[in-house]
Amino acid sequence: MDAIILLGAPGSGKGTAASRLIARLGVQHVSSGDLLRNAVKAGTPAGREAEGFMKRGELVPDELIGRIIADLLTSGKSGAKYLLDGFPRTVAQAEMLDRVVAQSGGRILGTVLLDVSEAILVERLAGRRVCPGCAAGYHVRTMPSKVSGVCDHCGAGLVQRSDDTPDTVRNRLSVFSRQTAPLIEWYGARKALVRVDGVGSADEVAERIIQALS
Ligand code: AMP
Repeated sequence: MDAIILLGAPGSGKGTAASRLIARLGVQHVSSGDLLRNAVKAGTPAGREAEGFMKRGELVPDELIGRIIADLLTSGKSGAKYLLDGFPRTVAQAEMLDRVVAQSGGRILGTVLLDVSEAILVERLAGRRVCPGCAAGYHVRTMPSKVSGVCDHCGAGLVQRSDDTPDTVRNRLSVFSRQTAPLIEWYGARKALVRVDGVGSADEVAERIIQALS
């Protein structure tokens, strides 16, 4: 199994870029945040363990998310190609991912960091809306739904993620600079990281990522 890693702060547009890249790169999208939110919704033991961390905007323990991701990656087809969005977020998770990929005989095809300034991240997270039905993402100003508050794809009412509130957003951004910035240095030191400007339309950013990976 091969993997492409998409790194970036909360609000950097990883999910939006990923939705554009699935068909173009022939990858399966794995969002660690979506996996955890689904586990919380379903009330699984992993979801119950993760819920408090997520509400506070903290990272869930490496061991918990590592197990969920490893199970998913190792249960897929051997030739599968994954686009990892939101995982890894710590050096320990990256080391675990290296082991799982190596054990499968695959490799990491690229690591992309979406670069976005903090002021833009805050603005994006405050205006972000999501569809609880089909997980489509919107922004009240830059990517509004056709009918205000209603999903274009499935007609469900749009909601704000519970961790997109101002206090939790502040915490998530500080957790990112404390815990995920060392990971960026770690990939940088291995010369395995490409930085891509994350400001622009979703199509422009997706195109830049494709160029950076080629
Ligand atoms: P996201 O949708 O990627 O912003 O993730 C939402 C929340 O899920 C984060 O604030 C964390 O609490 C948790 N989470 C997602 N991915 C990870 C990860 N790789 N490691 C630890 N916690 C994670």
